[in-house]
Amino acid sequence: MSDEAPSPRLLAIDDSELIHRLLQVRLQGERLELHGALSAQEGLQKARELMPEVILLDIELDTMDGFEVLAHLKSDPKTQDIAVIFISAVSDTMDRVRGLDLGAVDFIAKPFEVAELKARVRSALRMQHLVKMLEYRAQIDSLSGLWNRRYFDQRLQQEWSEARRHGRSLSLIMCDVDRFKRLNDQFGHPFGDQVIERVAQILSGGRGSDITCRYGGEEFGVILPSTAADRALEVAERHRVAIESHTWSGHDDVIVTSSFGVADLTSVPADAGMEQLVQAADMALYRAKQSGRNRVELATHKRIEAT
Ligand code: GH3
Ligand code: MG
Ligand code: MG
Ligand code: MG
Repeated sequence: MSDEAPSPRLLAIDDSELIHRLLQVRLQGERLELHGALSAQEGLQKARELMPEVILLDIELDTMDGFEVLAHLKSDPKTQDIAVIFISAVSDTMDRVRGLDLGAVDFIAKPFEVAELKARVRSALRMQHLVKMLEYRAQIDSLSGLWNRRYFDQRLQQEWSEARRHGRSLSLIMCDVDRFKRLNDQFGHPFGDQVIERVAQILSGGRGSDITCRYGGEEFGVILPSTAADRALEVAERHRVAIESHTWSGHDDVIVTSSFGVADLTSVPADAGMEQLVQAADMALYRAKQSGRNRVELATHKRIEAT
């Protein structure tokens, strides 16, 4: 039986060569990928590069003590979620308290029994798996199964910075179902929910790189990395047609339509923030509503400056 999941990475930061050799020998055969660092600096660097699941951190290091290393790890968004287990030759209660307060998940005293170390690593990995799962769930909208608003904000910020840094394009499509309140009122909320689910499916049917989110209620946002507005307009138009032509089971005579606003980096000033991209797409969406709904509108730089 082969296990497809990659082995969890374990980084040991300890200035004693002996500990590294001991770990090498005693953790052999474990489903773990073992890495080592002999100094605080090397440890911090490897933590960023390797992104290990667990770090075993010695308290008594050379230039920086383990507490400082932990503080560095916790202050860096990239490394803050790595589970850190302290290892220390002195098992001082105050050290334990300080370590745990700083965000270490566990503490083990040297010299340690390898069986205990393994058990503590397993427990840290279990905890981390749970945390990751909870974090993932907190980003998913339960009705549509799409990414939620929280994720949208965070991801757009990230894609925004990437696009700016690398001089790449980035588009945003905002979509809002037309007269949705009326659909709810006429056919009931379960039908309204069905519409949201299906529209979510249609909007997810683009390229794998498109990031489809439920922005709120019957509004959706699609982030299109490395995509300019002309291409995003085509995508939006295809979605618009797909929603309009969908036949609703049990409601054959109902036609659901939706309006779209599209913006890309050329729609906003060079020094704009991500919020302005959302605003630009929103304003285009508003124009789509104003000019009769069931249409796609493009934001332009001029229009934003004019308001
Ligand atoms: P417009 O064409 O201008 O967008 O009109 P609209 O009726 O779609 O817009 P409005 O924002 O006035 O109404 C949105 C409605 O969506 C109000 C709310 O009751 C409903 N709604 C929001 N979330 C849900 C949901 O999860 N399920 C259902 N069934 N309805 C929802
Ligand atoms: Mg040491
Ligand atoms: Mg609406
Ligand atoms: Mg709305």
